[in-house]
Amino acid sequence: MGSTIGRFAPSPSGYLHMGNLLAMLLAWLDARSLGGALLFRMEDLDPARSRDEYRRALGEDLRWLGLDWDYGWPEPSYAQSQRTALYEEAFHALEARGLVYPCWCSRAERLAAAAAPHPGEAEFDSGCRCAHLSAKERLARELSGRRPAWKLRCPDRTVRVDDGHYGPVVQNLARDAGDFIIRRADGVFAYQLAVSVDDMRMSVTRVVRGRDLLSSAPRQKWLIETLGGTAPSYCHAPLLTDGAGKLSKRLGSLSTQVLRRETTPEALTGRLACLCGLAETDAPVTPRALIPRFSWEKIKKDDVEMDTPDA
Ligand code: GLU
Repeated sequence: MGSTIGRFAPSPSGYLHMGNLLAMLLAWLDARSLGGALLFRMEDLDPARSRDEYRRALGEDLRWLGLDWDYGWPEPSYAQSQRTALYEEAFHALEARGLVYPCWCSRAERLAAAAAPHPGEAEFDSGCRCAHLSAKERLARELSGRRPAWKLRCPDRTVRVDDGHYGPVVQNLARDAGDFIIRRADGVFAYQLAVSVDDMRMSVTRVVRGRDLLSSAPRQKWLIETLGGTAPSYCHAPLLTDGAGKLSKRLGSLSTQVLRRETTPEALTGRLACLCGLAETDAPVTPRALIPRFSWEKIKKDDVEMDTPDA
């Protein structure tokens, strides 16, 4: 299976933490154990949340851990902030098919749309009526001078994704997901559109990431197919939690900034491998030495709770 193309797709909105590193280690092991390639895409869609300091650190931290990639960042064309023309093209293709409509609903949900939807974050405007406005209502909103966000009309269609780790995920797009934002009112394209266009255009065949994005996979598969592409296969990874929930980039002591001072790449890899079920002990090991031992069957399905010094 030398034709596998996997990817790292971090967002420069903070330093990586152990949960991110676990997902990236598994993405790397998955691709390398299949003899495949990996690309690195910088998901810096949202100018307000992206910082150069984090852009620099993401790549350095992955290399420090022993994870390499074959192409992508720092090549500018692999940064989402440089790919607006491609998102624009996809947006117009969807618009030409009558799938896009303006949405004038609350600001907060529209602003969040550029980031991947992590648990607890509002993703849908429940009660949004914008798809069903009368001509008069729509005109009144247009005349208000406020800029709308743009939503994609989801069909009443069932989409099935056979996740490599969690099995089948079956969603009726209209009922279980619902129309979703593809462009914010300030013009920034939304995560769901950008990630789908990029996975398609970059010929990604294999998406490995945290399972908080599992419920996004059917929408992304549908979007890619609607744009004329072939969806990758998806394989989601368990999350690390601190008991209160998924680790966040705010959790200081588990961020790479602290980890790099306090531990070695081999010790950290050993700890990650043990936490996720890949190794029986947390003996230090390199990512490369884990390749022959890697199998999704060994990886836990439940999220992994860990002790956090700052909890
Ligand atoms: N950039 C997203 C994040 O950091 C991940 C997107 C993806 O893997 O689809 O949460």
